[in-house]
Amino acid sequence: MKRKSFIYIALKLFKISFSAAPIHYSIYIIFVILNGLSSAFLTLALQMFFDEIELGIKGKSITADIITMLILVGMVIVGSHIINGIDNFLSEALGEKVKRKYTEKIIEKSAQLDPILFESHEFLDTMNKAHSGMLNAYYFLGVSMVIFIYYLPYIIFMSIYLFNLNPMLALILLLAFIPTMLSQIIRTGIFSKMEDKVAPIRRTYWHYTDAICGISYFKETRLLGIYGFLKGKLVGTILRLQDATWDTQKKSRQLEAITKTLTLLGYGGVLILLVYAVLKQDISIGAFAAVFASIGTMFDTMNEAICIHINNASHSLGSVRNFVDFIEYPVIERPEYQISRNAGIVVENITFQYPGSSYKALDSVNFKISPGETIAIVGENGSGKTTLGRILVGLFDPTEGQVLLGGKNIADVNRDAAFEGVSAVFQKYQKYQMTLRDNVHISNTTFDTDENNIKDALSKSGLNITDQSFTDGLHTMLSREFDGVELSGGQWQRVAIARGYYRSHEIILLDEPTAAVDPIEESNIYRQFAELSKNKTAILITHRLGSTKLADRILVLSQGKLVESGTHEELMNQNKVYAQMYIAQSQWYE
Ligand code: ADP
Repeated sequence: MKRKSFIYIALKLFKISFSAAPIHYSIYIIFVILNGLSSAFLTLALQMFFDEIELGIKGKSITADIITMLILVGMVIVGSHIINGIDNFLSEALGEKVKRKYTEKIIEKSAQLDPILFESHEFLDTMNKAHSGMLNAYYFLGVSMVIFIYYLPYIIFMSIYLFNLNPMLALILLLAFIPTMLSQIIRTGIFSKMEDKVAPIRRTYWHYTDAICGISYFKETRLLGIYGFLKGKLVGTILRLQDATWDTQKKSRQLEAITKTLTLLGYGGVLILLVYAVLKQDISIGAFAAVFASIGTMFDTMNEAICIHINNASHSLGSVRNFVDFIEYPVIERPEYQISRNAGIVVENITFQYPGSSYKALDSVNFKISPGETIAIVGENGSGKTTLGRILVGLFDPTEGQVLLGGKNIADVNRDAAFEGVSAVFQKYQKYQMTLRDNVHISNTTFDTDENNIKDALSKSGLNITDQSFTDGLHTMLSREFDGVELSGGQWQRVAIARGYYRSHEIILLDEPTAAVDPIEESNIYRQFAELSKNKTAILITHRLGSTKLADRILVLSQGKLVESGTHEELMNQNKVYAQMYIAQSQWYE
């Protein structure tokens, strides 16, 4: 992907942010511009005020003009505070709307992407980076905008104003700019070197902190009694972190002393210029006083713009670029197509290789599944069962070959259309932090809201909702973090299976969502699954063979190849891979 420029990224973010709240955003922009100009107006108003005072001193009287100018200065000061307040308020309120829009963009894109991408570590990394980029994006845009519509107008206005007073005075801005810029360049160099040195130590620090305080580590850390050990490691890391930062801080402070001296020299230069100009009567006393009063603001503004804003924007540019890259990640468009689910599945010579993997997870696999058939896919761990299941339901496209659903290659069809009428329960099913009802209902949100259907799915999966764990029946919250209950592994698995049943389907896949139950219990779940799926196309994946007898046909995979296919009896008679696996496992079922 081509590296996106600062301007491209800022404009892209602006477009998204603006669309989140166009009116609110337009008002915000107006206030930022007004905010920048109000500081510049103050210098002008002060000059006019001081000029009137000078006249007043000469005429030895307080003129109406002095009063008017005084009121004007007061109004500019009060106005600039009001504008600043409104500006801050608008920015914060807008932030929430814009961040919501960014999140929507990430979700929309994730939903469009090819699921195989999520199997690649690099892509997961890209996604994580995009997410942290998203967190910085609003700030980045704010800062970029402020540079262009707050600082730039202020600096342009002041340059013109000073130049008009006396061309020499335009040098003032340069004297404020050069030392600040220099100190910034030096500091950035030092800190980026420090970051390289400190980043790995900081990661170790976070890991030990997490191991001591994190929820997921708590039980094991406590049981092993290794708090003392981890504390020793943590303290050691903190000391290393301190050493690394101490050196850098020392260097940075020394350099800061030098650059602050430079700034001071710049400040001195400005004063000399001013005094020189007023003594030569190039500028009025009023202009002298107004510029004198504004020097502080000018230096502060330069410092803020360069040291804080430009610096922060350039720091976060890399991370925000990841966010924009992600939301512009190319998506392959596939046409909508109504697939007939009752025409069976034809697998034609498929081969599959995971991204970044050096070998084939599936190798030249061919078979057909008739509508309504119950198929068991069996094989040792790593033989390719899960991969085949994912391809059959249209999650992954084969690297070679094709899967025809109702005569149509699924790889040519829009994913949403391919997933319609397909239900699947995977090994790594999700535990949604929602109520029991919602945990089931989400698989089919367009389905009716009749709770009896949910209860029915739960009873088919064998979950007893009258159990005391479900304190609030279907409405029990299934998450301790949200003040609900924590289910056992077996109960969670049944919730996931119920979700699979509840989704309206013609094809259903069960990929060993049974790790938390024993082999006998698993057999029962599979037996019930086969019963319930009688007139549907049902695919069950397992490496435990206790329940495969029920299948109309068993496909045996070994190292990515389909090595046997037939009924339980046929395969037992062949006395090859399946029969040996079955005999080896038979003690589990006795
Ligand atoms: P099974 O379901 O039979 O245990 P899988 O289909 O999960 O087997 O895996 C088949 C092969 O593909 C294994 O060698 C496994 O290590 C590999 N594999 C699975 N997932 C990935 C992945 N995301 N990236 C690379 N290789 C993978």
